[in-house]
Amino acid sequence: MNIILFGPPGAGKGTQAQRLAEEYKIPHISTGDILRANVREGTELGIKAKGFMERGELVPDEVLIGIIADRLREDDCESGYLLDGYPRTIPQADALEQILTEIDKPIDYVINISVPEKDLIARLSGRVMCKCGASFHKLFNPPKEENLCDACGKELYQRTDDTEEAVVERLKAYNKQTSPLVQYYEEKELMKNVDGSKSIDEVFLSIKKILD
Ligand code: ADP
Ligand code: AMP
Repeated sequence: MNIILFGPPGAGKGTQAQRLAEEYKIPHISTGDILRANVREGTELGIKAKGFMERGELVPDEVLIGIIADRLREDDCESGYLLDGYPRTIPQADALEQILTEIDKPIDYVINISVPEKDLIARLSGRVMCKCGASFHKLFNPPKEENLCDACGKELYQRTDDTEEAVVERLKAYNKQTSPLVQYYEEKELMKNVDGSKSIDEVFLSIKKILD
């Protein structure tokens, strides 16, 4: 199963990706998680990406294309892939197409999770994350034990780009640079729309219905 999870920041891509990866036994590839791990470790890539991420801007295309070209060639992608947060621009989507042709793993579906903008802001401002990639919400999806990850037990943290200022920038970047991909994938007849404003369980079931 070769899937792209698409949607604005806060739509629920990471939340759904974790469940889908388990259900379909495919790797969850989140470019945001990869970049954050590099920032934490202080790698050359992390140093390059940090400022863009904190400001809520997109990291340059050539950086992301390199990351995804390497990641999709790893052994665990033999069973498929679940992309979350990539592609975010037309050049990234064009580069992806070329990589997928080279490795012969064409996209099956692009799942577009849509949520009204006011709900996105409420979701992002209450989000708490774990280093393992799990995403929670102080009100909408609280962890079982306060401030601890249900999946791995580590302490949760608030992302530095979930501030009001950075969220406004990220939504702007989505509207300007990423939303043209809706038409891009509609023209390729790969796009499937899901109402992301429903509960986490309901959204999961709608996606499963498409994939099954
Ligand atoms: P994305 O990966 O698309 O940026 P996340 O999966 O991190 O989004 O979700 C953003 C926030 O919204 C998190 O705090 C998450 O717990 C919460 N959330 C995700 N899906 C839903 C939903 N269907 N209803 C309410 N809150 C949700
Ligand atoms: P995310 O975790 O998907 O919300 O991504 C967090 C931040 O990482 C984004 O706001 C960007 O700064 C950067 N990022 C993640 N994926 C990409 C991408 N495909 N293209 C450019 N920047 C990205």
